[in-house]
Amino acid sequence: MKTLFHTQMLIKAALNCLYPTVCALCQKGLLLTEDHICKSCYSTLESTSQHSCYQCAKDLPRWAPSGSKCTHCKNDAWFVDETISLFRYNSSFKTLLHLIKFDDQDWIINNFKRRIKNRLKNSGFETHAPSIVVPVPLDPKRYRERKFNQSEIIANTVSEDFLIKKQSSIIKRKKCLYPQSFLRKNERKVNLKNVFSIHKKASIAGQWVLLVDDVITTGTTINECAKVLKEAGASRVTALSLGRA
Ligand SMILES: [Zn+2]
Ligand SMILES: [Zn+2]
Repeated sequence: MKTLFHTQMLIKAALNCLYPTVCALCQKGLLLTEDHICKSCYSTLESTSQHSCYQCAKDLPRWAPSGSKCTHCKNDAWFVDETISLFRYNSSFKTLLHLIKFDDQDWIINNFKRRIKNRLKNSGFETHAPSIVVPVPLDPKRYRERKFNQSEIIANTVSEDFLIKKQSSIIKRKKCLYPQSFLRKNERKVNLKNVFSIHKKASIAGQWVLLVDDVITTGTTINECAKVLKEAGASRVTALSLGRA
């Protein structure tokens, strides 16, 4: 085993000489033990706090007891039963997300696979897991430009690790009038009105759905998806995202 490890390191060293690799975030040279991101940049990725709202994963004050809800979830109609998010939406995370979205660099998702698996294990998924996993669909125009949906890549990982059936075509998405990123929270809600619907042939009555998105910012998109799932009879909706603003 040790010999195999040394052989792998030697091959990596040789490749590194031929093709010098730099950190995707700070552009400094990587050590042989580092993979795409240097140790120092990796440490700037902040995990979400344990003191967060269990329904939407928004940070709460440190004194908040576990199982607390934020004021938004107490006052607004929130259709997600619980949210699992891995990272805070800080500048390092934003850069990585940008690389995933615009440069099709799925090594980032591969890097996060282990983190996602461990987090879901800690949430008890090995013994009690959702019945289906559904990625939030991309805006059709965006999908045509990118040719892939980053949320679907995350959903694939979970589906493989926990043997949960993935059903990508359950939620249909129409084109929005305006790009969501230019709008405020209330405007986003109006912009997404009637954009999502459930496929006619989908049978989700009584199902526990794991709804996957790459990042949750205002929560409007994931909540609109959860709303149509609940209206179609889903018994429980758990949201999973890599990042949470
Ligand atoms: Zn770095
Ligand atoms: Zn909340």
